[in-house]
Formats: sequence, structure tokens, C-alpha cells
Amino acid sequence: MSRLVVLGGAESGVGAAVLAKKKGFDVFLSDNGKIKEDYVKVLREWDIPYEEGGHTDALILNADEVVKSPGIPSAAPMVCRLRDQGTHIISEIEFAGRYDTAKKICVTGSNGKTTTTSLIYYLLKNAGLNVGLGGNIGKSYAYQVATEHFDYYVLEISSFQLDDVYDFKPDIAIITNITPDHLDRYDHKMENYVAAKFNITRNLTPDDCFIFDSDDDITIGHLDSIVLRCKMLPFSQRHEVPQGAFLRQDKIVLRYEEEETDVYLKELALGGRHNIYNSMAAALAAKATGIDNAVIRQSLATFQPVEHRLEPVLSIKDVLYINDSKATNVDAAWYALECQQKPVVWIVGGKDKGNDYSVLDPLVREKVKAVVCLGVDNAKIHAAFEGIVGKEKMVDTASAEEAVRAASRFAEPGDVVLLSPCCASFDLFKDYEDRGRKFKEAVRGL
Ligand code: ADP
Repeated sequence: MSRLVVLGGAESGVGAAVLAKKKGFDVFLSDNGKIKEDYVKVLREWDIPYEEGGHTDALILNADEVVKSPGIPSAAPMVCRLRDQGTHIISEIEFAGRYDTAKKICVTGSNGKTTTTSLIYYLLKNAGLNVGLGGNIGKSYAYQVATEHFDYYVLEISSFQLDDVYDFKPDIAIITNITPDHLDRYDHKMENYVAAKFNITRNLTPDDCFIFDSDDDITIGHLDSIVLRCKMLPFSQRHEVPQGAFLRQDKIVLRYEEEETDVYLKELALGGRHNIYNSMAAALAAKATGIDNAVIRQSLATFQPVEHRLEPVLSIKDVLYINDSKATNVDAAWYALECQQKPVVWIVGGKDKGNDYSVLDPLVREKVKAVVCLGVDNAKIHAAFEGIVGKEKMVDTASAEEAVRAASRFAEPGDVVLLSPCCASFDLFKDYEDRGRKFKEAVRGL
């Protein structure tokens, strides 16, 4: 019996262990930290041996193959030892892909993954297809391969999940865009991060499609240096493309094979320029799946924003509160500010990831009337924006409630209060979802 060791006991690790068990492996799961109660329950239910709070060499180094969870850096000591002794290390996506015959639409990128993935799922569902949603969203891909039967999967895949992919092959691969993020995990080298993202394309064949943002210089730059043999479907808001999606006046034009169809921008349910890109990418995936134009139009018009992504919360005294807690980098916040039509009281801050805020200066000058800092250390944000909004229009807060109260004092009827923090949440919150939920609670409590 082949021995498969899984490192990491969270969503993807536990999913991989369940699939391995089902496929008859001698499986063992090891987690350096504590495994959450819910996952322990699953491991027990499936009778999977595991350890937590440390790694036992003898139980791990004898593996025939190892599935490494995306949260574990490839420089972690146990991973180095396994690599040094020549053990094959793969990701959960790679492992699950071996046992799945469904058609796969896979989405990666720096921003817009969840929105685009959810939108494609919605499109395929509306078209009546038997489709699963997974990867970085909801239940892991491996767990679903073990327990469900779908004809299609729409998978959100982070760059960490692509790090140890070799033979995994999507039928449709999408890179939404590439901007600097998570560089600490890539030796601070942008090219390593870009290469990880492009791992999604490595096994594409002439029957497969690659959907990408041709306005994105980093994506285009990398494409110039590699050879892909699949169908290329770029999307652009700047120029017409021979195949793919582009803008013509007030419409998105979808050009796929011999056919052209269009969708009015004003009919898109999701606002903001970034969501035009996401809608284009999703619509192209739908076209390549053979979905009817009518279903595409109707789905793009009725899709609801995903929680924590420019999510309107409440209007109080004609001030609209928007939760964009998922904006954990500068680029995402740029798009959030860019699409605001009204004066903005901006709640920003958290754990800085080496941000360069200067790209936001023009938008802040044009749209932001006050800045509420929500973080433990707000010095960089003060330095970046005091000269633009004025010292008296900036305030420090250390909880969602405090931030919302401060924002409500700055806001006047007709304004928007926008939580779009540019930063990770770990200084004051458990994660971005916790930050978004606390923000919403605080708004409702006003
Ligand atoms: P991801 O899953 O890649 O983090 P999300 O769809 O969750 O992407 O969106 C994350 C943040 O980025 C949100 O603040 C959202 O408004 C913003 N965003 C969404 N799509 C894009 C895009 N195409 N370009 C830039 N920012 C985007």
C-alpha cells in the first residue's frame, strides 16, 4: 500500500486525506499546530490517523508522496527535509486532479478570484449544468472529489495552491490579473510569484482555453516569454481583440469563434471598473462552455456581490456604508475608490504588507474627505495621506465599532463610508471576514 502523508490539517489537507483514504492509501496527516475541532471530527469519522502540535519524523519521512497544504511555506524545515531526501511533494489540487474527470474551469490572479469564480459558478448553475464550486472557496476540491459527483468544477486557486502542481490540467484557465502580493513567500521576487500563477497554464492543450487580462502589463510581459498552445481569449477595456472580450461604446463585446454578442454595461449587476474585467472573464468562460447568450446576459445582470467585496451594508441618514474588507492590498482599494461617485469617508489600515500608497494619491485627492485609520500602527497611512486630506480629517481607531462611529461623525448626507483597508487584518481581527462582519455589526448598531 502506498503511503501518503498530508502536511497541514485544515480545509485542503483534511480534504486530501479523505480522498487518499477513499482511494485506499496508507494515509497519515501531520500538523505542526493545533487542528480545528471540526477537522478533527472529519479525520475521526474517516478513521484517518493524524498528529497535531508537531511532526514525528518516523511517521513522515517514510512517505511515498506528500501533499503539502498551501499554508505551509516551501522553506518550512520538514518540507526541506522531504525535498532533500527526494520525496515527491504535491499540492492538494494536483492530488485531487488525478481522480477527477469533470471539466475544470480554474481561476487564479491577484485580485478578483472569488468574484470571478462565484460569477462563473452562477452562470453554469443558471445554465442547468451539474457544477461544483471549490478550491479556495468553501469545501476543498479534494473533499468534493471524494464525496460528490460533478460534471463541471469551478475552482478558485491561489498561487500557493499552484506551487506544487505538475500534471493538473484545467479545461479553461483564467488569470484575472497580476499585481504584487504575498512576495514574502516568493523570495521577494516578483518573477517567482508570476511563474507560480502561470503554473495554471502549464498543461493546457489546443482544445483548452486561456482567459487573461490583456491590459495587464505583467501578464502580457510573461506571455511574451512562454509558448502556450491553447486557445487564447484575452479581455481588455482598452483595445479590440481578435477573440475574447472588449468594450465598444457602452457594451461589452464577446467575440468567440465565429460569433459576436454583446452585453450592456449598465445591465451588469456588479459595479466598478474592476468588475467589468471580472464580468468579461466570466462571460468568456461561459461562452467557451457553450452557454447561451441569453443566460449569460441574465446572469451578469442578476449576480449579487460576494460578501466583503464592495458589499453595500446599509444606508443611514443618506450615508451608504460599504464593506470591502477583502481589499487587503493597494490594487483592490484602488478599484474600490475609483468606482465611488460620492465623497468618501475611507476606513483604511491593518497589517501593512509593504504597501506603496502613492498610487492612491490622485484618487484620495479627488474623492476622499476623511480618513479613519483602523490598525495598531497607522504611522504609514498618516504619512501618506495627511498632506492630502489634512491632519484634522484623520483619526486613529482600534476597533470596528470605534471606526464606524468616527466615520459617521465625518460623514454627511450623500456621502459614502467605505471600509477598503489595503492591508491584512491580523493585527486587530481574526481574518478579513471577521473584520467585515464586525464592521457590519457596528453599522447596524449605529
Ligand atoms: P480574490 O479572491 O482574488 O482576493 P475577490 O473577488 O475576493 O478577489 O476581491 C478582492 C478585493 O479585490 C475586493 O476588494 C474586490 O473589490 C477587489 N477586486 C475584485 N476584482 C478585482 C479586479 N479584477 N481587479 C482589482 N481588484 C479587484
